[in-house]
Amino acid sequence: MHNIKIEQTSQPKEKPAPDQLGFGHYFSDHMFVLDYTEGIGWHDPRIIPYQPISLDPSAMIFHYGQSVFEGLKAYITVDGEALLFRPDANFKRLNRSNERLCIPAIDEQLALEALKQLVAVDREWIPTAPGTSLYIRPFIIATEENLGVHPSKKYQFIIIMSPSGSYYKEGINPVKIMVEQQFVRAVKGGTGEAKTGGNYASALKGQEIADREGYSQTLWLDGKENRYVEEVGSMNIFFKIAGTVVTPELNGSILPGITRDSMIQVLKSKGIPVEERRISIDEVVEAYHNGTLEEVFGTGTAAVISPVGELKYLDEKMSINKGEIGEVSQMLYDTLTGIQYGKIEDSFDWTI
Ligand code: PMP
Repeated sequence: MHNIKIEQTSQPKEKPAPDQLGFGHYFSDHMFVLDYTEGIGWHDPRIIPYQPISLDPSAMIFHYGQSVFEGLKAYITVDGEALLFRPDANFKRLNRSNERLCIPAIDEQLALEALKQLVAVDREWIPTAPGTSLYIRPFIIATEENLGVHPSKKYQFIIIMSPSGSYYKEGINPVKIMVEQQFVRAVKGGTGEAKTGGNYASALKGQEIADREGYSQTLWLDGKENRYVEEVGSMNIFFKIAGTVVTPELNGSILPGITRDSMIQVLKSKGIPVEERRISIDEVVEAYHNGTLEEVFGTGTAAVISPVGELKYLDEKMSINKGEIGEVSQMLYDTLTGIQYGKIEDSFDWTI
């Protein structure tokens, strides 16, 4: 058993109205904090009132970006239970990110225990309106006061939580995406498969271009040949071509999405052919032209599924499935959200 100290807030905040939630604007009453000091290890696990953190201006996080984070959700089921979706997978991925960023591994059991207690303390912060959830953001920052470029000797692991609204008003909505030509998100040997802040900072420019041209997300190609499809915005991507669902294989520059993994398992369980392999943008365009590109969709914790209604590559605008939600996209959305909100049985043993 881990001894996690709990300090309850004496000033609970007012909760936002369900229709005001949006994403990432509001934060629950408490947070979890765990410190790391070289020579001691991770120590002092505690749940405290949500509050600002105070760091020296020389703290390494401000200079060299040594940080990792995660994103997952808590849901209130149709039976009124609080439920987490595959949190163990998130902490496993956090440790893989830690390894890449030279951050000491955390105890995954302690992290899970801390998260369960934090969600229990702030249970009232899980919104209950349809499609809403409590977004959970675990993260680690380098806190040593030092300007030398080396792995920090001090860190903080923090978990904060934010009640969030339904991503799309009507369940799911097809989005327009464009293939990014000038910039890349990640390269082989880089940090693409780690969830680290720098990846998101470097992706902002591509997103800015997409926004300007009226597209909601960037489709990223590989950083070497600018030819193979990698990810869409901050989601993994799937194509249904002539009845087979194809998603780029994990090659070191793609983030191993937990939703991606869940989708692959659901597809297999339903007997729908699914392949993890390299897929070039030329193959996608060719499938579009010969009429076999049936569905395109992105997957991630935030929206579960974002069907792609339009895909722009060079000067060509491809309309996918007449801009409508495909059969497989809908089935995957219904299955995953069904499990998350306790509407269908969790035969995969994903929920806690
Ligand atoms: N790719 C990137 C770059 C992401 O940031 C995310 C969101 N974590 C995903 C894919 C989807 O991952 P998950 O399904 O675990 O949310």
